[in-house]
Order: sequence, then C-alpha cells, then structure tokens
Amino acid sequence: MSAVPSSIEFDLREAERQAALDRYAIVDTGPESAFDDIVRLAVTLCDMPAGAISLIDHDRLWFKARIGIDQAQLDRSRSLCGHAIDAPNETLVVQDLDQHPVYAQRRRLLGLRPRFYAGVPLLSPEGHALGVLSVADVVPRMLGLPQLEGLRLLARQTQHLLELRRLMLEQGHARADLQRRHDSLQYTAHHDQLTGLLNRAGLERLRARTDVQRELAAQPYVLLVLDIDHFKRINDQHGHLFGDRVLCAVADAVSRSVRSSDIAARIGGEEFLVVLPDTRLDGGAEIAERIRREVERLTLPMPVTVSVGIADAAPTSDTPEAVFERADQALYRAKKGGRNRVVADDTPR
Ligand code: GH3
Ligand code: MG
Ligand code: MG
Repeated sequence: MSAVPSSIEFDLREAERQAALDRYAIVDTGPESAFDDIVRLAVTLCDMPAGAISLIDHDRLWFKARIGIDQAQLDRSRSLCGHAIDAPNETLVVQDLDQHPVYAQRRRLLGLRPRFYAGVPLLSPEGHALGVLSVADVVPRMLGLPQLEGLRLLARQTQHLLELRRLMLEQGHARADLQRRHDSLQYTAHHDQLTGLLNRAGLERLRARTDVQRELAAQPYVLLVLDIDHFKRINDQHGHLFGDRVLCAVADAVSRSVRSSDIAARIGGEEFLVVLPDTRLDGGAEIAERIRREVERLTLPMPVTVSVGIADAAPTSDTPEAVFERADQALYRAKKGGRNRVVADDTPR
C-alpha cells in the first residue's frame, strides 16, 4: 500500500526532491553530535520519550539522529514522517493516533506504538522536503504554542546545518576540480605533446628543484645527448607525419632503455636528453649503446639511426650546463665520425 500518488507530475517532483537530498551526501553517514544535540533539545523541550531527524531517501526513512527509536530506518510509506512531508510547509501534529481516521488504521496495520506525533518538515532552500524533525510519545498528548514554535526553530537550525554541510561539500568539490585542472595544465606545460617525454620547460622545472639539485650534487651522474641521424632526409622522403612517427618510436626506444628513476626529455626537434643519476661513464655508455641498438632495430619502412654523446659529472665540481656542453661536443664528434654511434667525452679535467 502506498500513499504516494503515481502521477507523472509527482514522479517528477519526487525525482527533484531526491536529487536535492542527494546533494547533501548525508544519507548513510555516521552520527554527528550537532544533529544529536538538536534531537535532544527537541525531546527535552517537548518532554517526549522519542524524537528524530529523519531523511526521506527513495522508499525509506533514514534517521540521521534518533532518541527512543530502535530501527535505523523505516519503510517510507509506513512512516508518519513519510506523510509529514506531503504538506512541506506545515507541522503535522496528531494528538492521538488511535483517534485519527487514517493513521489509526495504518498504526494498527503496522503495529506502530506511538500515539502522539509532531513533525516539522526540513526543507531545502528551493523548498524540497528532505526529511522531518519529529517528536513522539506513547500516550495521547498536546503541545503548547511555545513548544511548537521551539520545534520549528530547531527544524530551521537543522536546515542551516544541512546547508552548511552542502556548501562545504561543494567547496571541497570546487577545490578538487581546480587542483585537477591545475595539475593537468602543469602536465601539459611540462611535457612534449608528441612523445610524452618531458620538454624543455619540464626539464627546467626539475633542474630548479632543490631536492634534484641536492641529488645531482651528491652522486656521480651521466648525461646523454641524442640526435636522430639525417632526420631532414627522413622528413623530405617520407613526409613530416612519418617524421613524427619516427620521433615517437625513438622516444619509446629511449624510455624502454632507461630506468624509471632516469630522466628523459625531448629538448629540440629531433634531439633528446637523458640524465642517468648514480651512474658512471662506462655504465652510461652501456645504456647509450642499448638505446642506439634499440633504434637501429626499429621496424620502420626505412633505417633510422641515432648518434649519442655522453659525459659524466664529477659531483660538486661540475654544473649540469658544463656536463651538457661536454656531452654535446661528444655528440658532434659522433656525427663527424660517421653517425649511428656513441661517443664518450674525453676532455681532460
Ligand atoms: P644530422 O644527422 O646531422 O643530425 O642531420 P639532420 O637532418 O637530422 O639534422 P638537421 O638539424 O639538419 O635536421 C633536423 C630536422 O628535424 C629539421 C626539421 O625539419 C626536423 N624537425 C624538427 N622538429 C620536427 C618535428 O617535430 N617533427 C618532424 N617531423 N620533423 C621535425
Ligand atoms: Mg639536430
Ligand atoms: Mg639530426
């Protein structure tokens, strides 16, 4: 049995009401002292053994706070609160449920114990009835005007609490949204769109980080500068789009060959830089050779090779810029020496 009229208009209003309640994200949350206090005040004010803040969630009545009620939730159609919201702007007062033409029937049907009931609907700012602040007694009762007025004031306080909660939630969501957008912008600004590697700005940002500076200064590291051989020719013969595909394939080969703690960046059109922390020159040469071989083995419609210059940093004495300069000189020699090779810096220091 349902007291809910099943017209389309009602369904629509009910859907809006439920959506309004959902915006508070309060149903099925734990007890909170602020709501408990209001119910305690209500039962004290009215001198009743039972009271509750109930929220009407789909087909059930769920209690955010309750005194003198055993169940955590009730069937909506069988509850008095479920009916109190039918007239959202009125306080439902039933002095003796036994004498009431509708509720007596329902009460007997469902074995409800209370005889007195008073419920003030809790409204959203748009006027949707979210639930009820109610008090009840097992004997027939009356409420004085000051008590009724007090109950309504407590209902208004409950609405304020609910509103505060919704605003805080919304603020939290807005902040999280902003953070996500900020993170995504940061990522876009610091990564190369084509290959997904760090770009120059990303590298600069890393370089500026004090923890990275400390790490580079504390241990030896190797810097690789890598340049695709005859890339202009590849572009000219196969088109720019194919050139882009080659760039991605080379970037993947680089990523595959290094550790996740290494730093790989695309620093120019077809030039890449790799930093290998905690590595010495011979170890770095091995990695560079691995990259060179990986590229040589790529299955592309034409052979693609890279030249690599490498240099190591003696911690504390070398700036990253000086190490880069030496690696770049080594790259120049690799090009001069015939390309598709790794050349290590050998300048005396
Ligand atoms: P070398 O072996 O001496 O390095 O010869 P190279 O042809 O690779 O060197 P060069 O610097 O003369 O040519 C680099 C070419 O890279 C020129 C430019 O058209 C191309 N290039 C730069 N950026 C991109 C890009 O984002 N996509 C594509 N497809 N080509 C690019
Ligand atoms: Mg170049
Ligand atoms: Mg080149």
